[in-house]
Amino acid sequence: MARPKLIVGNWKMYKTVAEAVAMAGSLKSLGLGGRAGVHVGVCPPLTCLHAVAQALRGSGIEVGSQNLHWEREGAFTGEVSAAMVKEAGATFTLVAHSERRQLFGETNATANRKVRAALAEGLSVILCVGERLEEREAGRTFEVVRDHLLGSLEGVDSAAMARVAVAYEPVWAIGTGRTATPAQAQEVHAHLRGLIQGAWGSAVAEAAVIQYGGSVKPDNVRELMAQPDIDGALVGGASLKPDSFGALVHF
Ligand code: PEP
Repeated sequence: MARPKLIVGNWKMYKTVAEAVAMAGSLKSLGLGGRAGVHVGVCPPLTCLHAVAQALRGSGIEVGSQNLHWEREGAFTGEVSAAMVKEAGATFTLVAHSERRQLFGETNATANRKVRAALAEGLSVILCVGERLEEREAGRTFEVVRDHLLGSLEGVDSAAMARVAVAYEPVWAIGTGRTATPAQAQEVHAHLRGLIQGAWGSAVAEAAVIQYGGSVKPDNVRELMAQPDIDGALVGGASLKPDSFGALVHF
């Protein structure tokens, strides 16, 4: 059975509430949630999450959080929990985006706590994995993505894996305009699927959605999506405008 493609826009720390709601309205009127075999989501800043979820109701486009904390509530100034983002309208969350790993000290251990908290709350998860340039150049790509994948998903059972997607995002390709070639990406995606098979079995591996992320644009998306183990895209820059995001959904 063919896996669906999953196209998700990560708006990072861009857009006011008014801008985000206007963007959501455009995505809805473009009918982007209605393409058969393509699942679509957006991750607005937390300040906009509720308003965007309201604006996208009935559109078929899901709303996700860019991050969350693993505790349900407590004295954790500046943090929000899985229950809170769910209440605001999120159905999924990103975990361990490379900017979280690089700038905010995210580790596989903290990612694992976040994954488990999100799944326990009924959210789906997009777990981000990917090597830095020096790690690629040192021939360590497979080892790094294995550690990210297996370390962050420790203790997640096969049933819960149905709600986990993986985003392979080579750090050197994020926001740089430098995309991995389709062959480079496919090689790592196939490796990730093999790791999933080893840990959770063939059925989970066959169903697992593995997105590529890193300077995906309307002019390179089609070739990437044609690879057998690339099941979608996690997109930063090109997700910020309705036309380019629309072109990605209609790859
Ligand atoms: C991202 O933020 O996950 C990303 C891949 O960004 P960009 O598309 O801008 O490289």
